[in-house]
Amino acid sequence: MESAEAADHCRQKLQRYASWTRAPQPPPHTAVKLRTGCRYLAGQLEKIATGTYGQCEECEERIPQARLRAVPGALRCAPCQTAFERRHGKRPHL
Ligand SMILES: [Zn+2]
Repeated sequence: MESAEAADHCRQKLQRYASWTRAPQPPPHTAVKLRTGCRYLAGQLEKIATGTYGQCEECEERIPQARLRAVPGALRCAPCQTAFERRHGKRPHL
């Protein structure tokens, strides 16, 4: 995913989150999802703005396009992600 495309993806998600907050009966998971989701999306948009989108947070190598397509907004390349999950336990991807 190119950064322009990723930015659109983030904005669409933020709009969806915003629509939940206006719903008369928000889905029960909304509060948690909003909190983690907004923090994550803000981080992604900041990376896109600073040109570090698609860069691995651990080794600072470019994350392969194939991986970014499969996992939009991936924070790490596949080897670093595997190592991270081994250290911290698997986290659900948003
Ligand atoms: Zn890496």
